[in-house]
Amino acid sequence: MSKRINFGKLIEKQLPPELVNFMWVAGEMANSRGEKLYLVGGVVRDLLMEQANFDLDLVVEGNAIELAQQLTGINKGKITTHPRFNTAKLQWHDWSIDLATARSETYAKPGALPAVTPSSIDDDLSRRDFTINTMAIRLNPGYYGKLVDPHGGREDLQSKRIRILHEKSFTDDATRIWRALRYEQRLSFHLERRTQTLLQRDIPMLETISADRTRYEMECICKEKYPEKVFNRAGELGVLAALHPSLKGDGFLKEKFEHARQECSPEPPSFDLYLALLAYPLTAEEIEQLISRLNLPRLSAKTLRDTIAVKNKMRSLSTPGVSPGAIYNLLRDFSPTALEANSLVTQSAVAGQAIHLFLNRLKDVQVSLTGDDLIQMGIAPGPQIKEILGLLHQAKLNGKINTRHDEEEIIKGWLAQQQGGTTPPA
Ligand code: ATP
Repeated sequence: MSKRINFGKLIEKQLPPELVNFMWVAGEMANSRGEKLYLVGGVVRDLLMEQANFDLDLVVEGNAIELAQQLTGINKGKITTHPRFNTAKLQWHDWSIDLATARSETYAKPGALPAVTPSSIDDDLSRRDFTINTMAIRLNPGYYGKLVDPHGGREDLQSKRIRILHEKSFTDDATRIWRALRYEQRLSFHLERRTQTLLQRDIPMLETISADRTRYEMECICKEKYPEKVFNRAGELGVLAALHPSLKGDGFLKEKFEHARQECSPEPPSFDLYLALLAYPLTAEEIEQLISRLNLPRLSAKTLRDTIAVKNKMRSLSTPGVSPGAIYNLLRDFSPTALEANSLVTQSAVAGQAIHLFLNRLKDVQVSLTGDDLIQMGIAPGPQIKEILGLLHQAKLNGKINTRHDEEEIIKGWLAQQQGGTTPPA
């Protein structure tokens, strides 16, 4: 890329004045401390691509916590520090800025978290994942706007290439395999040839990544605008099979994810909903394997289990004329997200309507009378109280009664019949 760009101007053009001003002040302050300060990583990449990104990552060759403490005095913002890594987060109004001490990293063994040592900006950029994320813009006065690009990030950006920095990159940290696919699909780039070869060679290294880190990667994918593209590519390259051999990133997924976005709009679908759709073709046994592969929290695990359980009830739900009370009994124990997933997948209009009826109305239907009310009305305490409340609930679900008055009337009628020697209402 030969075009000369004034990065100072680029910052001014694309970032809000408050952030631009903050970076000036931070640059001056770092200078007065004899430290070099840089804007780094994703925001630099996105500045060059003219894409909005206000998540500022700053790296200082010096002491990030001390610098952040001095800066927070100016903005009166909140500061959070992590002394172990010598990093700090500054937050004020809507802004959040990460400040890190330039560091180098070494990996004791594949997949382990790295050991970090304070170091230079060059080392800090060399520890990163892909060339397009290894650019920095200096913020010190006199050098403000100077691009640091030791790995050819700008050229790769222009050629739309995702390229790792060294042969052992995916071995050191196999989460980069997922990250590579995420950037490739988000930006409509392509994996550089050697990077793709190494990525496929190192697929077995995904085994070295903990379940929690793997889940985090899945969460990041599901926050993308089109997660299905990442899963599709992962399927093509054999990466998805490393998560679970029965997962598919095919046309089914594309159709269902698109449908989910329409249904959830304007909110994006939740991670659990996307995951339920991804896992939909799996058996109950395979679902258990996926749950432990991702160490899913209790509620997410329930959603996946429920998705399969509801899938197995779809035949009963598809029967025309099935009563609201019966729909309630079929679906009452399952998570709403599992029900949504099934309504997105089912081919049966009857079953789809049944699920919507449950979610939009039936699940909230409650009997107004309590057990105490029934006793006051003259029903003897005992197991029949629960039974009668259940009968009232069914009558209400099926639209036979609507108000508290209706409930009282039905009980009074029943008591009268009882005195006359007849049985309770069905
Ligand atoms: P996004 O655009 O998705 O918000 P980002 O590019 O800002 O992403 P983050 O995941 O926030 O990326 O990470 C910040 C920077 O840290 C990245 O730009 C990258 O340089 C580096 N980084 C993050 N994860 C890794 C990793 N696993 N290995 C190496 N470098 C990483």
